[in-house]
Amino acid sequence: RGGTIRLPVVVHVVHNGEAVGVGNNISDLQVLSQIDVLNEDYRRIPGSRGFGAGVDTNIEFYLAKEDPNCNPTNGIMRYRRSELPNGGASIDSDIKPKTFWDSSRYLNMWVVNIGGGILGYATFPGTAPAEEDGVVMIPSAFGSNDAPGVFIGGVYNLGRTTTHEVGHYLGLFHTFQGCTGAGDSVADTPPQAQPNYGCPSTPPDTCSGGDDDLIENYMDYSDDVCMDMFTAGQNARMQAVLSGLRSSLAS
Ligand code: ZN
Ligand code: CA
Repeated sequence: RGGTIRLPVVVHVVHNGEAVGVGNNISDLQVLSQIDVLNEDYRRIPGSRGFGAGVDTNIEFYLAKEDPNCNPTNGIMRYRRSELPNGGASIDSDIKPKTFWDSSRYLNMWVVNIGGGILGYATFPGTAPAEEDGVVMIPSAFGSNDAPGVFIGGVYNLGRTTTHEVGHYLGLFHTFQGCTGAGDSVADTPPQAQPNYGCPSTPPDTCSGGDDDLIENYMDYSDDVCMDMFTAGQNARMQAVLSGLRSSLAS
């Protein structure tokens, strides 16, 4: 499909009873900063941190203006975890089914502590029941420390975890699927044996005979500051999903 594709997003903030803007109950500004990063990264906006040697995917994101009942909304929902079924113990079984918005019409994002050192996870197209479909990120890896009034520490503080998880949601595999076989099923990403972390000044070459690892790709595990691109082949995969399994989402 051609032209700009706009995806409506609902962000479900799951907190522990903190005031808005404190701890897990992240501020509206922090949520907005994440939407900005998605647009900078997927549109390859000149001058932004997402302006690498990649492609403009023409995919854009906006906070939903109408909820599933056609009532006005700012696209940000807030819940106290202990008030969700089973105390919100399981994100997939207790939190998602109670809070999701029609996943054929909205990209559902949950911001919640996952635990186990996990920054985020996503459902691939066509793999999850409707009430579990979407992306999940931890509060300290959602939004951008670049934005005025937003303060996030660490090396995953520029919003690239969500860029990465939405890549999965739109059908992308990691770039590090191994040196043989189909790899990530994208022809213009070099084969890569294992994830890269940090931001190495010389890119490693984990599969011999081809190019160096593409550590700046959003689908590696590099630090946020190190990532700035999707390839044309990755964009083609995402476009195929947006004209196929996820076509009902796009306008
Ligand atoms: Zn991943
Ligand atoms: Ca290589």
